Amino acid sequence: MTDERSALTASLRHHLDGPRRAARDEARRLDGAAFGHPPGPLPMSEHRTRVAAQVRELAKATFPAGGFPEHQGGTGRYGDSVTAFEMFGHLDLSLFVKAGVQWGLFGGAVSLLGLERHDALVPRIISGEAQGCFAMTETGHGSDVQGLLTTATFDPSADEIVVHSPEPAARKDYIGGAANDAQLAVVFAQLVIGGDSQGVHALLVPIRTDDGSPAPGVTISDCGDKLGLQGVDNGRLLFDHVRVPRTNLLGRYGDIAEDGTYSSPIENPNRRFFTMLGALVRGRISVAGGAGAAARSALTLATRYAAERTQFPAPGTGVEPVLLDYRTHQRRLLPRIAAAYGLLYAENELVGAMDDVLSGRVTDEQERRQLETRAAGIKVLTTRHTTDTIQECREACGGAGYMWANRFAWLKSDTDIFTTFEGDNTVLLQLVAKALLGEYEDTFGDLDTAGIVRFGARLAAGTVLERSAMRGLMQRIVDAAPGREEDVTFAIRGTQLRLLRDREEHLVETVARRLRRAQEPDGDTFAVFNNCQDHLVDAAEAHVERLVVEAFAAAVEECPDPDAQAVLVRVCDLHALTTIEKHKAWYVEHDRLSPARTKALTAYVNDICAELRPHATMLVDAFGIPDAWLTTEMLATS
Ligand SMILES: Cc1cc2nc3c(=O)[nH]c(=O)nc-3n(C[C@H](O)[C@H](O)[C@H](O)COP(=O)(O)OP(=O)(O)OC[C@H]3O[C@@H](n4cnc5c(N)ncnc54)[C@H](O)[C@@H]3O)c2cc1C
Repeated sequence: MTDERSALTASLRHHLDGPRRAARDEARRLDGAAFGHPPGPLPMSEHRTRVAAQVRELAKATFPAGGFPEHQGGTGRYGDSVTAFEMFGHLDLSLFVKAGVQWGLFGGAVSLLGLERHDALVPRIISGEAQGCFAMTETGHGSDVQGLLTTATFDPSADEIVVHSPEPAARKDYIGGAANDAQLAVVFAQLVIGGDSQGVHALLVPIRTDDGSPAPGVTISDCGDKLGLQGVDNGRLLFDHVRVPRTNLLGRYGDIAEDGTYSSPIENPNRRFFTMLGALVRGRISVAGGAGAAARSALTLATRYAAERTQFPAPGTGVEPVLLDYRTHQRRLLPRIAAAYGLLYAENELVGAMDDVLSGRVTDEQERRQLETRAAGIKVLTTRHTTDTIQECREACGGAGYMWANRFAWLKSDTDIFTTFEGDNTVLLQLVAKALLGEYEDTFGDLDTAGIVRFGARLAAGTVLERSAMRGLMQRIVDAAPGREEDVTFAIRGTQLRLLRDREEHLVETVARRLRRAQEPDGDTFAVFNNCQDHLVDAAEAHVERLVVEAFAAAVEECPDPDAQAVLVRVCDLHALTTIEKHKAWYVEHDRLSPARTKALTAYVNDICAELRPHATMLVDAFGIPDAWLTTEMLATS
């Protein structure tokens, strides 16, 4: 690599690493052999043993403590902790998930839903001495957490809570850590006091005795082999009238006093429930981070391979071009690299916002809710991008891509479930759409169908415009762009943003109008809402796509190095324009672009791909994945 090129790569990497580059560098020093995948698939039990040992080793690093406040024995470096954790997405994803369960889900629930009386447990969670799991999902209810069947009934005579699975559908299912290692579970259950249900609450339940056998009344079974993440011991839990002290209730959002009375700082039960879930926002941000890292690993490998691998002699010369010189290969890899850049900048922004909220620097309710909506949306787009990108990269490496030694098999099988856990993507997009429609603003958390339809009936177009208002800088860029179609020049950032924003606003406004029909005298609320579901999901997707392009555009504007900025401008163009191109049928159908313009758009995207082709390997080198973490058989450079 020339000095000039390595300086540019370093500059791009510095900028992509974002404000938490020190945390990334600390993670980069981890030994890839010790924390990476095993050389090939292991028997499930061996893989689990290996990952459990890796988690014990990781407990000695600084990042687990970063996820907890100082008064609980942590260091309160939330953003650094999540960023370091994101880097593990380049290593064994079983380790990523197992560590995420211990410190993110289990530890996070104790820390954020518990009260002072639970603080003493946190240092033992940080050190890994107290191992736990997060038992929310049941066989019968996954996405619909409010529908959980497990009960936690307060028994005032014994000052205890009785945890019970009343029917097979109440079995806790797929729970990471439950099959082997967890001693404690944070169980989500309907809290019943004096015969009245107070809604879903979380409480600590010991599930194993000191010798590792199931605690009395707890039945534990193993989920067995899975499509991927074989190093994670997912299990099932059934409770038969298991008694725990009243104080095991993680009562920050609803507690039982010594005299048996229930109180909550949040009156409205729906609002209480969504505030409780919202406190756990870090999980979704982390899953998006790990998924994005896995996609960057795949892109790095496939791009390096494409720069080396030759196929078919070019007519006349007899010389075989490298794959990357083929238009289709450029089209397959470069837009996905551009998307990876956009999603990473969006993730960096999200982690910053999360750090502000968790550290208490931001207390504004609306900003907190915006963070939750963004986290849901970015999780969806990133995990979807990851599944699609890893498949494309595998194919781009032909037969070599299919070999375990070349990593795609790990990446594919381990990341597949990321589209489902921490919230199924389709369900999450509905949440984003509902937030977009402003429902949270009026009835906060009243997510029932009637509530959303009522809101739709009141919605004025102005509200939508206000809610989707761009940051000031982006607005100025849009305002400076020409508006008439004949003036549309795709290279202008403002034009790109205007096209994305226009689609989003149109989708949100029209779905709101459709929801009004439920107000008609014979309106069937469920049918109206159900008929709009695909429309709602499109609106949400359009919203998040615009957010990602904006995050990218803002990062480009802020890049201090003009050479790196010049490259980033074109990578951002590519991402914005391939996003618009994906929806070109919509733009034609809705008279936003003529067929001639969309044809011109496709030609222009091809031009950008050709222009960026010489930079392709530099763009993936800038992801900064240590070479020792990416060893393969297929690359000469490995
Ligand atoms: C490997 C693994 C690890 C996991 N770890 C944990 C863990 O540690 N703790 C834990 O609590 N859970 C865990 N889970 C559970 C996971 O969070 C759930 O699987 C997830 O929330 C989805 O729930 P579900 O499986 O019941 O799917 P469902 O909710 O039944 O969804 C099935 C399909 O129906 C669709 N759907 C659902 N509702 C609607 C609707 N209203 N409108 C339209 N479509 C809809 C969804 O889009 C989806 O495609 C894990 C799962 C796996 C596989």
